[in-house]
Amino acid sequence: MAKILLNKENLFHNFRVISEQTGSVEKVAVVLKDNAYGHGLFEIATMAKEFGIKKAVVKSLDEALIIEKLFDDIVILAQKDIHTYSHAFHIAVNSLDAIKNLPENIKVHIKVDTGMHRNGVMPDELEEAFLGLSKKNIRITGVFTHHRSADELSTDFYWQKSVFTRVKEDVKKICEKLLLPIPAFHSCNSAALFRTSNFDEDFARVGIATYGYLDNAGIFKFPKLKPVMSLWANRLATREIKKGQSVGYGGTFTADKDMTVSTYDLGYGDGFLRLNERNSYTTPKGYKVLGRVSMDNLSLNTKDEEVCIFDDVEVLAKEHDTITYEITTTLSPFIKKEVV
Ligand SMILES: *Cc1c(COP(=O)(O)O)cnc(C)c1O
Repeated sequence: MAKILLNKENLFHNFRVISEQTGSVEKVAVVLKDNAYGHGLFEIATMAKEFGIKKAVVKSLDEALIIEKLFDDIVILAQKDIHTYSHAFHIAVNSLDAIKNLPENIKVHIKVDTGMHRNGVMPDELEEAFLGLSKKNIRITGVFTHHRSADELSTDFYWQKSVFTRVKEDVKKICEKLLLPIPAFHSCNSAALFRTSNFDEDFARVGIATYGYLDNAGIFKFPKLKPVMSLWANRLATREIKKGQSVGYGGTFTADKDMTVSTYDLGYGDGFLRLNERNSYTTPKGYKVLGRVSMDNLSLNTKDEEVCIFDDVEVLAKEHDTITYEITTTLSPFIKKEVV
């Protein structure tokens, strides 16, 4: 069976680099949404707890329930209806409109739209949001925003930062006026954290750096992180093909000499994005993916029993014209995980 190996040493290396940047492990919220970017929600959560991380960020209530016991605080980014509740949970409020559907007595983090225009309340709606939430006895434990271009060389990052600085001042005034405690403030994802030299917020929401990647790391001189995941596949069948014979759907690979070809138990059905005649991909050991990737198999020019398909997804991300996030996140949650 195909499997994912999770390298604990590399994960801990990344956590060390990240907590050095935030100033302490208390200020790291590990982002575990989407099955921990395909790495396995429970596996990564368990190791994060062992490292000493106390905060996590997920997308849904279902994800939060799986890791409820492992963290003190869990921010839930995109859950519209809350049907069950734990003291660890902080529900993101993504619009003024969302307030009316929230149950009473929960804890929330207000998302503020500082320029990404995806979701969040507008800065001038903050007082109304605070009033609406307080009326329902909802505790505002956090106020946060998200950067649209933290990983790109542009000034967007700085103007959004200055908008959020103003938001923080406004929130403090509102809290004084309404006699409410000052909430936690957070705005940094991985790239924003590493672009900030004197990190002074309450915590950072760190996703992709946890898993060993940072886009444009070269441009920004980011520190070296180590990929946590490697993907392995097992041999199903081997044959010797003659010069001129073709392999797989469409016969798009034709042998230019007699050669050995094996199929392995991994395909796009497992979330390994489909490579075809327009791509070329070589595994870390130098084996070539021959022809098109099928739903459940791919073919390589080897007969090794077990092959490492990747141990760093940057090459594949380039080949597919996408980002590292998409390569790992699309992997099927059914692929077995092993911690090494
Ligand atoms: C996914 C996400 C993050 C993590 O971003 P990375 O670039 O992976 O560090 C942080 N905050 C929010 C709101 C997110 O949706």
